[in-house]
Amino acid sequence: MSALFNALVVLGGLVLLVAIVWKLLTRRESANNISIERPDRDHSPEKFDVNSLLQATMSGMREGLLVVNKDMRVVASNPAAHKLFNPSVPALQSQRLTELTRNPVIYSAFLDGLKGVERSGIKVETHGPERQVFDLRVVPIGNANGHGPEGALGVFFDITRTEHLELVRQEFLSNVSHELRTPLTAIIAFVETLETGAMDDQESCQRFLSIIRKNASRMHELIDDILELTAIEGGNVQLRAAPVQLHTLVQDVCASLEAKASAHSVTLKNDVAPEVVVHADVRRLEQMLTNLIDNGIKFSREHGTVATSYESGARDQILVHDNGDGIPAQHLERLFERFYRVDRARSREMGGTGLGLAIVKHLALLHGGEVTVTSELGKGSTFTIHLPKA
Ligand code: ADP
Repeated sequence: MSALFNALVVLGGLVLLVAIVWKLLTRRESANNISIERPDRDHSPEKFDVNSLLQATMSGMREGLLVVNKDMRVVASNPAAHKLFNPSVPALQSQRLTELTRNPVIYSAFLDGLKGVERSGIKVETHGPERQVFDLRVVPIGNANGHGPEGALGVFFDITRTEHLELVRQEFLSNVSHELRTPLTAIIAFVETLETGAMDDQESCQRFLSIIRKNASRMHELIDDILELTAIEGGNVQLRAAPVQLHTLVQDVCASLEAKASAHSVTLKNDVAPEVVVHADVRRLEQMLTNLIDNGIKFSREHGTVATSYESGARDQILVHDNGDGIPAQHLERLFERFYRVDRARSREMGGTGLGLAIVKHLALLHGGEVTVTSELGKGSTFTIHLPKA
């Protein structure tokens, strides 16, 4: 919606600029001012100084704007175009387009503009230290009275971020489809096995039904996590931050995970002092701690321990430490990305969705804090939630 609004604003500006630049290219001695009639009730025309109007419009635009004359020399440009083409030269004015760029796509678009052909939707990439992607639109200027165009005006819309978001979206969708397909394929396969005779064998029937149930639950958890993450990322989760008795909260989380911990022969420890109070949304903090302690149990060794503790500092720090196998250093940087797992097969085996840490990260950010991890192979991992003090 905001992209559409921006596009409309830019398009409006473009129309205005074409008119102004056309005036500049064809101006007569007396034409220092142009009249712009506003649809006021009294229809009184207002005078604008054309130079300051042009200056303000062009400087204010985030889009790069370049006007060339019939000789392909720059006659007007704005700061955004200057930054885009060559910030090291003092001005783009009078430079040939070929001196500014060797990109044939840009050159041919402006050439078409000079032949009176409007071009749009041209993708232009820059390969400097920072890769940028632009959508270029070129319009001819001044062919109103039958003569050929006097120049061509190009607008470079920066679509780097939009393109990045589109890539992230596609990657997310393909991950989701892949994650859903695995349990779904298992469900279909076992239903077919049952249909083709396995139903008659009581023991196989029970086993296959339990596999079907496990895979259906996996799909359910995955959809819940996706919806949750989408809501948090979309800004649709409101936090109700208030003082939280941390010891009691950790006690509750440990109690709810006690059965799972015993099944894995893991001990849960609450090392938070009874008087510690942090400032957070209690339900969301519970969710973060549940995810982290649950991971500690899943990735712990047998007879391991998952301990939660608190440290005070510039921010409140809640640490969840396990003495499991640890995480290889090369994975730490990407650990909080959606669907990132160190060992995909093990994570699936443990019933994980691959979204738990991404949810923790976004909830911590929503609190104005963050989550970090340190880990040592063979010794274990510590996840720390940093929360601003009240
Ligand atoms: P999952 O559902 O797979 O647990 P998470 O987002 O919670 O997804 O975690 C992502 C990955 O990070 C896990 O698959 C695992 O490889 C790794 N991981 C998370 N917590 C731990 C931990 N305490 N010890 C070792 N590895 C961990």
